[in-house]
Amino acid sequence: MSGDSSGKRALESLPPEGLEGQRALVRVDFNVPLREGQVADPMRIKASLTTIGWLRQRGCRVVLLSHLGRPTGKVVPKLSLRPVAEALESELGTLVTFVDNVTSPGAAKITRRLLRGEVALVENTRFLPGEETNDPSVAETFAALGDFFVNDAFGTAHRVHASTVGVAALLSPAVAGFLMAKELRYLGEALAAPRRPFVAVLGGAKVSGKIDVIEALLPKVDTILIGGAMACTFFAALGYQVGNSLVEREKIGLARDLLERGKGKIILPQGATIAQEISGSAAVRQVPRDAIPDGWAMYDIDSATGDSFAATIRGAATVLWNGPMGVFETPPFDVGTRTVALALADATSHGATTVVGGGDSAAAIANLGLQDRVTHVSTGGGAALEYLEGKELPAIAALDDA
Ligand code: ADP
Ligand code: MG
Repeated sequence: MSGDSSGKRALESLPPEGLEGQRALVRVDFNVPLREGQVADPMRIKASLTTIGWLRQRGCRVVLLSHLGRPTGKVVPKLSLRPVAEALESELGTLVTFVDNVTSPGAAKITRRLLRGEVALVENTRFLPGEETNDPSVAETFAALGDFFVNDAFGTAHRVHASTVGVAALLSPAVAGFLMAKELRYLGEALAAPRRPFVAVLGGAKVSGKIDVIEALLPKVDTILIGGAMACTFFAALGYQVGNSLVEREKIGLARDLLERGKGKIILPQGATIAQEISGSAAVRQVPRDAIPDGWAMYDIDSATGDSFAATIRGAATVLWNGPMGVFETPPFDVGTRTVALALADATSHGATTVVGGGDSAAAIANLGLQDRVTHVSTGGGAALEYLEGKELPAIAALDDA
């Protein structure tokens, strides 16, 4: 996307005459959940279809690279991409050639024998010991499979691996696929030129994982709404008793400092939904934030806070959401997360740009069936967080400039 804020060259800028018959080596993110040897959720496969289809239509031969799980440099049969090749075949409605031994001399030959529009998938990149260390010889092995490189795997863009960074230096052009461009556009635009009011909603388990995000967002946003267990560390910073709530003692000082610097911007819950255990059948109460009794813990924001967060979100022009408001996996502690998710959907339908980042937040919005009612759900958990922290993502830096 020439207009995208990443400044990186995008697939659609490539001239059609340079594509016909070429082997497009595409790094995708097929790190899908498997159940009993089958793909349990094809979401990530579906997400890559735009890029694959675009290349096939232009007469490219498409060679796909992906990792799956953490085999740590050895062959782990359970983490084979074979079932993913099958799932991809049914998504594409065409056969997919599976390249099971990328280090054999025959592998590059297989890719050269592909016909225009044909698709091949290479076995799990992380079966090779040099993938995660960005070994140059592994990068060369991958590069031999293609004539140019497309990276569509935002989820691993924060890692320096042979199939993401190494290979990008060996093939030219090296460009961002549609999914990658979409990630960069929405995350990038939200941060670089947000329409205001710009509201960030942060939650999740730990402050420690999100401090850099808060620091980076603080100067950019108008308001930061804080929920999740993270809120409890801030409560502790205000001197409240928080019972058994999850508090990071060593972060209390930092929380106090952030509250000071974020005065008027950081908004904490007014009250908490508390219980004595995380269980669907636990007795549940709603209490003011300074009245969490001993033996009880905050597992969600209270409903008044949910309503007030929702109102702030509905009044925003840009919303960035990372981290559930409570233990959303266990109802009734999902109420706050649902309230926030619905408010994002509402804001979107009134023209706001709404972006959801983070693995659990994406899962929460998908569970609610609201993923199509927000502007963008990032597929990258850790990568999205690092991007929001303002860090350079090495696999993106490795692509050609626009
Ligand atoms: P994301 O993956 O979206 O970045 P996190 O990983 O930071 O989100 O946090 C998600 C986890 O936080 C969920 O497993 C959820 O149960 C947990 N969580 C949220 N609120 C609380 C709370 N009040 N107490 C304990 N755990 C919580
Ligand atoms: Mg998470």
